[in-house]
This record gives sequence, structure tokens and C-alpha cells, in this order.
Amino acid sequence: MAQSDRVAIVTGGANGIGRACARRFAEDGLKVVIADRDRDSGKSLAEELGADKDRALFVDCDVSDKLSVANLMAETRSAFGRLDILVNNAGIVAKGDILSLETDDFDKVLAVNLRGAFLVARAAARQMIDQIEHDDERPDDCRKRYAIINMSSVNAVVAIADQLAYCATKGAINQMTKSMALALAAQGVRVNAVGPGSINTDVLKAVLEDRKAMGKVLSRTPLGKIGDPDEIAGVVAFLASKDASYITGECIYADGGRLALNYLSSSSD
Ligand code: NAD
Repeated sequence: MAQSDRVAIVTGGANGIGRACARRFAEDGLKVVIADRDRDSGKSLAEELGADKDRALFVDCDVSDKLSVANLMAETRSAFGRLDILVNNAGIVAKGDILSLETDDFDKVLAVNLRGAFLVARAAARQMIDQIEHDDERPDDCRKRYAIINMSSVNAVVAIADQLAYCATKGAINQMTKSMALALAAQGVRVNAVGPGSINTDVLKAVLEDRKAMGKVLSRTPLGKIGDPDEIAGVVAFLASKDASYITGECIYADGGRLALNYLSSSSD
């Protein structure tokens, strides 16, 4: 694969879906910044992806912290001099419905999934607009180069009773995606979201180990299997590519058919 001059930041890039996105960008020849709180996994991934050439960087970053996000941008500029793609992927869950959810847990989930996504997107968008103005780039060229991809979920549209905070943040991510897309359209920075269904990462570990819970998940998954992180990374790579140059303000659901389903899927029989 030919090497590109494009630089991508992936938040939550040390594990799960973010890790698959970082790996996919590196395979596609992009330079990658892995921004995560998990130092061990993040560092070893950066070493692996950038082993023979300085094309991958790990930055210890808490997306919910404004200073930490400012540091992420500074480190990115210092290592690679520019930013072209952001995958706003870091996310957490906390159990609790409207009767049981603790205020602290509500705040924690909002801090990472929504405030964090906002802080990183704002910093990234400002960096991209600076570059566009400095280089006097045409919007038609920018649409092929610059992209922000927010990690949403099917839970932006359907809901789980005891994941109130998580569902609320993913609904908000979809609206934030549209608002950002409108604000940045004139300059040619495209903003889209990806909405995964059930994907094989640590978040789903408890479900994967419980046959009954797995049966329930599959009964709501017409394609009859849990998704692989690579299958989300492929959609992210498409949205970041010039093939998606006319797409902005959209959420693409990679959910094995879940949102299309009315009656329960026969794959649960
Ligand atoms: P994961 O737990 O495997 O990975 C999440 C990563 O985010 C971890 O590396 C973690 O260290 C990092 N992270 C957590 N808080 C952070 C913070 N404050 N700052 C920086 N990094 C932080 O989870 P995943 O399943 O890969 O989920 C990634 C994204 O995909 C999340 O936004 C999640 O909501 C979304 N998603 C996942 C699924 C699924 O089934 N796995 C489904 C729909 C949406």
C-alpha cells in the first residue's frame, strides 16, 4: 500500500474498535495517533504499527479533560505537523436505569462519551480549519482529505433500559454529528458517524460468556453473528476516504440488520 501524507487520530485507539481503526489506517498507509488512557496497550500498538518508520504515535490522553486534549493536539502537530482525520471513538458504559442510575455514573458516562467527544472534535476541527486557511485549500479538495467520524451506536436509535446514560450520549452524538457537519460543510470538512450493533470487544465480554444473553443478542441480529471490530474499521476507513467525498451529516449503522428488524430473527431458533 502506498504511503499517504494524511494523519489520523483515533481516540480509545488502544483496544477494541479503536484499535482495529488504528490498525486499518496504518495498513492503508496513513500516519496514526493512538489517544487513550491505557498506556500499555496503546504504546505496544504504536510500536507495532510504526515499528520500522515513525508513522504511529501513542499519546496518553483522557478525552474528558481539556488540558489532556490540548496536549494531544500539540503532540500530534509536533510529531506529524498536521491532522486530517479524527475518529472520535473513546466510550464507556455504566449500568443503571431511570430508577437506579447514580448521579456519579451518569456524570462519568457523559464526561467521556459526550463532553470528551465534543472536546476532541472541537480541537480537531480548529486544527483542520487552520490548515485549510493557511494552505488556502479548495473545499472540493478538502472533502477528499478531511473527515471526522464519531462513534455512535444502534443505541442512538433503540434503547436499553439499564443503560440510560449510554443511550442518552449516543443519541446526542448523532445530533452533534449533524450540527458539526453543517458548521464545517463550507470549508469541506466532512463529519459522519458509525453506529455499530453488537461487536466483539471487552464491552461485550459479559454477554459473550453468557449463553442466554448471547441468545438474546442473536435473536435481534438477522446476520446471525456478533460483529468483528474490523467490520467497523472498514466502514470508518470508507467514511475517511475520498470515495465518501459527498457524504456528510450521516450515520451508517453496521449492525448485522438489527435496526431493520421488526419480528425476532429466525437465527435465534
Ligand atoms: P473498548 O472498551 O474495547 O475500548 C474503549 C477504549 O476507550 C479503551 O481503550 C479505553 O481505554 C478507552 N477510553 C475509555 N475512556 C477513555 C478516556 N476518558 N479517554 C481516552 N480513552 C478512553 O470499547 P469498544 O467496544 O471498542 O467501544 C469503542 C466505541 O464503540 C465506544 O464509543 C462504544 O460506545 C462504541 N460501540 C461499541 C459497541 C460494541 O458492541 N463493542 C457497540 C456500539 C458502539
